[in-house]
Amino acid sequence: MKSQKEMLLRMREDLVRGIARRSKPPVEGIAPDIGDIIDSVSEERTRELDMILTDREKKKLLQIDDAIDRIDESTYGLCEECGVKIPKGRLKVLPFAKYCVECQEKLERDEKYMKDEPEDGIKKVPAGDVEE
Ligand SMILES: [Zn+2]
Repeated sequence: MKSQKEMLLRMREDLVRGIARRSKPPVEGIAPDIGDIIDSVSEERTRELDMILTDREKKKLLQIDDAIDRIDESTYGLCEECGVKIPKGRLKVLPFAKYCVECQEKLERDEKYMKDEPEDGIKKVPAGDVEE
């Protein structure tokens, strides 16, 4: 289980590094503050990252942090929904998977349904180029 944690920490670092590269100022010689953030993989730093992360990156980072937590709590690799062991193959592809395939699919279906629902009463207005 230790190697799994290392892998997650590495994923986290890669993610943060990618963001650091992106947010690097064009002026050479100026080290961005994010350098300090990379040095640390502690969770408190996630707050600082919050400001520069996209929602998608934030979500991924949270998932990774969450998985690391679950390794520490020895609940890693168990489906949070039904408690079955998540197949190793799945964890390999998706190291921060929280649910088994069945539950994940079920949850995604539910999520989609819930997302679609509020739009029912609201008329969707396409952004931009609609000419009357
Ligand atoms: Zn499950």
